[in-house]
Amino acid sequence: MTKVGKVYLVGGGPGDPDLVTVKGRSLLEQAQVVVYDNLASRELLALAPNALHIYVGKKKSDHAMPQEEISRLLVEHALLGKLVVRLKGGDPFIFGRGGEEMEALVDAGVPYEVVPGVTAALGIAAYTGVPLTHRDHTSVVSFVTGHAPHQIDWSKVGHAETLVLYMGLSNLADISQRMISAGRNPDTPAMAVRWATRATQQTITGTLATLPELVEKVQMKPPATIVIGEVVGLREKLNWFEKLPLFGKQIVVTRAAAQAGTLGNRLHELGAEVVELPVIAFAPPLDPTPLNLAIANLAEYDWLIFTSTNGVRYFLDLLDQSPYDLRGLRAKLCAIGPATAKELEALHLKVDLIPEEYVGESLVEAMSKLDLTRKRILIPRAAVARDVVPDALLRLGAIVDVVETYRTVVPAGSEAIAKQLLSAARKPDWVTFTSSSTVKNFLVLAGAELLSDVNIASIGPVTSATARMHGLTVTVEAEPHTIEGLVDAILLGASTLH
Ligand code: SAH
Repeated sequence: MTKVGKVYLVGGGPGDPDLVTVKGRSLLEQAQVVVYDNLASRELLALAPNALHIYVGKKKSDHAMPQEEISRLLVEHALLGKLVVRLKGGDPFIFGRGGEEMEALVDAGVPYEVVPGVTAALGIAAYTGVPLTHRDHTSVVSFVTGHAPHQIDWSKVGHAETLVLYMGLSNLADISQRMISAGRNPDTPAMAVRWATRATQQTITGTLATLPELVEKVQMKPPATIVIGEVVGLREKLNWFEKLPLFGKQIVVTRAAAQAGTLGNRLHELGAEVVELPVIAFAPPLDPTPLNLAIANLAEYDWLIFTSTNGVRYFLDLLDQSPYDLRGLRAKLCAIGPATAKELEALHLKVDLIPEEYVGESLVEAMSKLDLTRKRILIPRAAVARDVVPDALLRLGAIVDVVETYRTVVPAGSEAIAKQLLSAARKPDWVTFTSSSTVKNFLVLAGAELLSDVNIASIGPVTSATARMHGLTVTVEAEPHTIEGLVDAILLGASTLH
């Protein structure tokens, strides 16, 4: 007989994926089945890439799956012996129907655990700068559902000093009326917050009397939560999140999938909504023979020039697969920039040369000061790359081997993201380009139309030149030509442009 699995009811937090608990994250990483709805963050689902993902979307308008069926699904997979994570928005026990799902598990004899999450009210409090309690203003907080206003005795809860109204958006006018009739001051500060804690957080502030109209005017959609109470007034002073320098900006990051992380994370920390559109993926060369030959003759080379971190990684991969290792290395080492140098230093190798500017021309200038006559130079790099460096080194008398070490390919899944970007109502504020090939591949994937009226941030003059050659206008260029430089350029651009 199959061993019975287990169901974990996990609170995923309000939206920012970093707000899930350590236990919740670890369970997602182990999960075999993840049952989720529309409040679940994509980033949390990505923690369980190999699990079976089952969407049981529960939007108010389209009850995709009745509650009994969700419960049945959980039982079914647990009985098949699976580790099931039922991922809930916020906390499972705050308006999450977690109780009902657990009852079904108990009835079916399925083992379970509950992992709490940061409920929307608490996420909102932190990310809008509204403490739910405050010595000078309030000592009572109530969490109320606005789902069925007629079932609530507003003369009781309406007087709570701070009131957090879940699912209250569509009935807000009715609720506001009922609270005012029951004696709550119509001038009480109030706010509506949508997608709190995410980069797309939207906040509207007013009073108990005015908020319904304000919300109507901008046609705010769920999921949104209303907070009513004097504490809302503290927001002016305590709001840190919406004051982050890139808050409200949507930035498309086009780096290669494996490399997008650093740039994306940095922009996210500064408040931006980051859309990762990997335009390049890397693969080993189709024919590894030339590289294997170079590796077998490694001791012959006087210089190794690495022009990217990928060059280093794929070179080492093939070295590892060969009968040789780094002991064959006699050559001096050159890296085009600090990131590539770091990759080499991680191997406890010392880099002999980093050009002043991180471009080919600067590299050639530095090397032209050396005597390169009859010196053998190996450049492990992508097949399609600029030939400035090898041509110039040949002219300096060197014997140069340019060897394909990796290839660039279009990453799976990017076309769907590009399509989504193209059909979205709102255009991105920025697109980042970190190499000429990101520009070219972006244009192949998404076309130039998406880029009109969009700010372009380029990592350096070569990338900028490629962009201009394709008719694009570069808004800012990084100086120095590094990821940090790129982030700084966007920060400066964002503060001066708007
Ligand atoms: N269990 C969840 C609540 C689910 S009910 C929790 O603890 O947060 C769904 C309601 O939660 C929405 O209608 C909205 O009022 C609120 N909500 C959830 N996530 C939210 C978010 N990121 N921003 C604003 N409101 C949110």
